[in-house]
Amino acid sequence: MRSEKKSRKFWFIAILCLIIVLPAGWYLWSRLEKEKPTLNMNLLSPHLGQSQVFSLVVSDAKSGLRRLWVGLLKNGQEAVLHDEKFPSAGFFKGGKVHETSVKIQLAPEVLGFSDGDAILRTVISDYSWRGWWKGNITYTEKNVKIDTRPPEIEVLSRAHNISQGGAGLVIFRASETCSKSGVQVGDHFYPGHAGFFKDSNVYLAFIALGYQQGTDTAISLKVTDLAGNEATGGLNYHLRKKSFRQDRLNIRDSFLKQKMPYFSSQIPQDSTLSLVDKFLKVNRDLREANYQTIADVCHDTDAKIHWQDDFLRLPKSATRAKFADHRVYIYKGREIDRQVHMGVDLASVARSPIPAANTGIVIFAEFLGIYGKTVILDHGFGLFSMYAHLSNIGVKVGDQLSKGDILGRTGLTGLAGGDHLHFSVLIHDTFVNPVEWWDMKWIQHNVLSKIEQAGSEIKRE
Ligand SMILES: [Zn+2]
Repeated sequence: MRSEKKSRKFWFIAILCLIIVLPAGWYLWSRLEKEKPTLNMNLLSPHLGQSQVFSLVVSDAKSGLRRLWVGLLKNGQEAVLHDEKFPSAGFFKGGKVHETSVKIQLAPEVLGFSDGDAILRTVISDYSWRGWWKGNITYTEKNVKIDTRPPEIEVLSRAHNISQGGAGLVIFRASETCSKSGVQVGDHFYPGHAGFFKDSNVYLAFIALGYQQGTDTAISLKVTDLAGNEATGGLNYHLRKKSFRQDRLNIRDSFLKQKMPYFSSQIPQDSTLSLVDKFLKVNRDLREANYQTIADVCHDTDAKIHWQDDFLRLPKSATRAKFADHRVYIYKGREIDRQVHMGVDLASVARSPIPAANTGIVIFAEFLGIYGKTVILDHGFGLFSMYAHLSNIGVKVGDQLSKGDILGRTGLTGLAGGDHLHFSVLIHDTFVNPVEWWDMKWIQHNVLSKIEQAGSEIKRE
């Protein structure tokens, strides 16, 4: 009888434990969870400019968010950027909000901060019962730099004389590190490249005046610092008019019959098109598409000047067409098209070996539409040379060539009527007159003397 009573008591306690104590313990344990809230901040740069917007994503999966505080601090000065308390779902239930995103507009100057080092502090807490109901706390500090002033620009190179279709060099210094710098020539931007001089804020920018840009084209310096502050500066320049030739090209059926089958895979297939209409598609659309490829290839450049002195011209060759010849295409006595020739055509004996015009790296070596088999060399700092209509390519992308190394042989691939070399020079994506780069005097006057003079000016300081 007694033992029956005892066993009943045991079972009563056991069931009480199962129903009340264990779940209560489990619940208490869950409310004491120690998982901290998470923060994801997308501040683009630690350099704070005049004004920027950044966003925060904060979350707390278990207990829910209690409070988010964001502030900017500098030498004891503090500004609250955001302070938000999130609702509770009840004492036993934790927070209602488990994830939220906040956008913050930050204009340090408006808040009374001066330029200099500062701290962006974030404090996030949750509804856990840890820390005597204070919750888990995520505390982050990010070092930032307030910089609301635009950089100053100093031009180190003097008199810039540039011809239509010609090139030039501008050397300048920014007062601070820049994320973007260069020279705006009309609607075209030429990036500056650091690394030539020890001072990493001194930039060299090779620039070009397109053959079609007028002598009234505006040229200015443009720089943007790490905080996004922009500055524009003027420079001394003189633009020279240059006249280009007109050239009439007779397109014969024999040429079209020989050439158009080559292009059938590169233009939309349409058997109803006549030979001359196929030619027009090649001469217009394919020419444009090929130019886009060249522009893309010549976007990135090595941050080093590889070349030295004047560029080599195909030995013992005659000039057949000049840079920026304005070509009129005649078919059966009538004008069918107009295009501008963006290089120099040089003819020698068939399959002549082609020397690299100067030291550089092969960045393109394959068939390219109207240009046929083509090689492009990067000479560094945005200067490129291009060799087209080759019968044979003897180099591959990545090869480092010295001035004079043979890169292939002349031919008539692409839209060439006879064996010749089509030679082009580019400043990034602008074709320029190769004649300037064959001329040591021009290089001395427009490039080398500018580098020397800027160098001696830097030394004198
Ligand atoms: Zn040509």
